[in-house]
Amino acid sequence: MSHGQFPNLIVSRHPAIGHKLALLRAETTEPKKFRELVREISWLVGYEALSDARLRDIRVRTPLEETGGVELADRIGLVPILRAGLGMVDAMLELMPTAQVWHLGLFRDERTLQPVEYYNKLPDSATVDLCLILDPMLATGGSATAAIEVLKNWGARRIKLINLIAAPEGVAAVEKAHPDVPVHTAALDRQLNEKGYIMPGLGDAGDRQFGTGHTD
Ligand code: URA
Repeated sequence: MSHGQFPNLIVSRHPAIGHKLALLRAETTEPKKFRELVREISWLVGYEALSDARLRDIRVRTPLEETGGVELADRIGLVPILRAGLGMVDAMLELMPTAQVWHLGLFRDERTLQPVEYYNKLPDSATVDLCLILDPMLATGGSATAAIEVLKNWGARRIKLINLIAAPEGVAAVEKAHPDVPVHTAALDRQLNEKGYIMPGLGDAGDRQFGTGHTD
């Protein structure tokens, strides 16, 4: 469902997503279960995000006769933002087994607060029709806008951002910088706190997937 305040934002409203989101947020959810939930929610949000993927007609032969069918015409590129975006890749590959995966590493320079690219596995020129940027958390929007810029400079024309939880600040930043990029998310949360965490959020999505959080 698109959102009144943000024309480019699509918040998934499926009951299964709501149920899984509460489990994802719960601090008692262990990394193994957390990773499963990231995969399951990514699948559901990705399914919606791909609803306008282009098809072409084909012919198929059933055991009884020949009939018409369709196959995906769009070449799809998945761009997980390291490291938290990695947990979303498998779900998207289940949906779109022929998608290519291009890894992009961005971190925030603590001094300038600007995203810095430290890893980029994009080929020299755009080889896909539709790029899906995968990042569970859309917080300030710094990495998302930087990733979109990298992809546009690379020649990508259609880009979508796939998140699990978004903050209004991040959605506003992406919409301002890239009004042509739809943002799909499972939830739009209240706000960022002073440390840049999404409230109520789920904490650090990378730490919670990979078990690297503090235990105090
Ligand atoms: N990144 C996270 O992993 N969590 C947040 O709340 C914000 C950014």
